[in-house]
Amino acid sequence: MTLPRIVVVGGGAGGLELVTRLGRKLGKRKRAEIVLVDRNPTHIWKPLLHEVATGVLDSGLDEVSYQGHSKAHGYRFQRGTLSDLDHDARRLTLAPIIDDGTLVLPSRTLEYDYLVLALGSVSNDFGTPGVASHCHFLDSPQQAEAFRQAMLNTFLRYSDPERRLHPNLVVGIVGAGATGVELAAELYDASKMLHSYGFTSLNSGQLDVHLIEAAPQILPALPTRISKAVYRELEKLGVNIHVDTRVTQADEHGFMTADGTRIETDLNVWAAGIRAPSFLSELGLSTERNHQIKVKRTLQSIDDERIFALGDCAACPQADGKMVPPRAQAAHQQATRLYHNLCAILEDKPLKDFTFHDRGSLISLAHFDAVGSLMRGASARSLFIEGRLAKLFYASLYRMHQFAIHGAVKTGMTVVVDGINRFLRPKMKLH
Ligand SMILES: Cc1cc2nc3c(=O)[nH]c(=O)nc-3n(C[C@H](O)[C@H](O)[C@H](O)COP(=O)(O)OP(=O)(O)OC[C@H]3O[C@@H](n4cnc5c(N)ncnc54)[C@H](O)[C@@H]3O)c2cc1C
Repeated sequence: MTLPRIVVVGGGAGGLELVTRLGRKLGKRKRAEIVLVDRNPTHIWKPLLHEVATGVLDSGLDEVSYQGHSKAHGYRFQRGTLSDLDHDARRLTLAPIIDDGTLVLPSRTLEYDYLVLALGSVSNDFGTPGVASHCHFLDSPQQAEAFRQAMLNTFLRYSDPERRLHPNLVVGIVGAGATGVELAAELYDASKMLHSYGFTSLNSGQLDVHLIEAAPQILPALPTRISKAVYRELEKLGVNIHVDTRVTQADEHGFMTADGTRIETDLNVWAAGIRAPSFLSELGLSTERNHQIKVKRTLQSIDDERIFALGDCAACPQADGKMVPPRAQAAHQQATRLYHNLCAILEDKPLKDFTFHDRGSLISLAHFDAVGSLMRGASARSLFIEGRLAKLFYASLYRMHQFAIHGAVKTGMTVVVDGINRFLRPKMKLH
């Protein structure tokens, strides 16, 4: 008897949690064949990328090998980049794998009975001239690593006064959402650490971070109280905050803004807004203008009941008509709903609608502080938290993801190993 095949494309915050649960429940018991496809060989939880970018987190220690994980959790991993989809034949096409100009694997096809698209999102540069070629992005581990290398090189360059472009080292970050804000604070933390590890020509007083936001407040998607508290903390660190400021052009050495001001920089980062990968609009599925796949509340595509989407790449309406926000907690909750819905399909039971429960928002400002709000039960009243308590809750978000993909024992052991590594290793990745 051939088993039904469920293919999940994208092993990120939502996709990896989904295949883990499906593999344990259906794959191991030979009730379905579960296949994960991802373009990368390893997974790293995306909300950690700003820490990878500053070297505070060594991705080599935290990344999960899909191949190894799949063996332990009852699914099969296939490395590849989704490039095309044939709905009628229920077949997807994976692009050739090319390494250093050499063809490793040609284009391949993979058939499915049920398909889940969990491809995440990329930064939206809104077509702003110069951004694609002159800014760093933090959409993938490779981009975070490229920023880290550029940052270390810039610090190195500043050790020679002749090679300095400005008296201070200047980083421009466009977009004061969670990514931009957290990166700004991490940079001050990283500069302090680099100073202590021998980059003595620079200290945090010689780092200028410009955080540029088009909206009237930083963290525009979050409650004003959080935004104001974070603003105060960033000001204390010395971040130059520009709100109501729209960037119209980027070049190698800075940004131009709509009012004609020029902001000179050594390093540029673009973290303003997100969109789904544009090729999703070419797969024959209905998509929004930002290329998110339109799904019903059951997470099924509105065009094809066998195709599902979750996380940042899905445009999923809530009961009040608003869209589910592109956040890790939404991807996590959708993975849980989809797990139950896919099991229901195999048991001939009806599917249930997804309901997003906002558990609150937390912003980490490196070692300096954390600020956020937690939603209290069904009343949905928020509880403002900061300091150690907020840091504890922030750290627990990643532990919850680890719990979902590794289980309790391995997560507990990881907590211990992380504690030991804090004594054994430098506080940041220096090479
Ligand atoms: C720096 C940063 C900080 C963040 N902080 C927070 C936070 O504090 N709280 C919060 O809730 N959210 C945060 N987010 C947002 C959060 O990371 C995303 O909402 C979440 O990761 C979305 O999960 P996902 O499963 O939809 O996609 P992702 O986690 O992005 O995973 C997508 C996966 O798809 C794979 N993929 C992409 N294209 C292809 C393809 N064509 N073929 C095969 N595989 C493909 C990728 O390799 C990746 O593994 C942050 C994001 C960033 C960048």
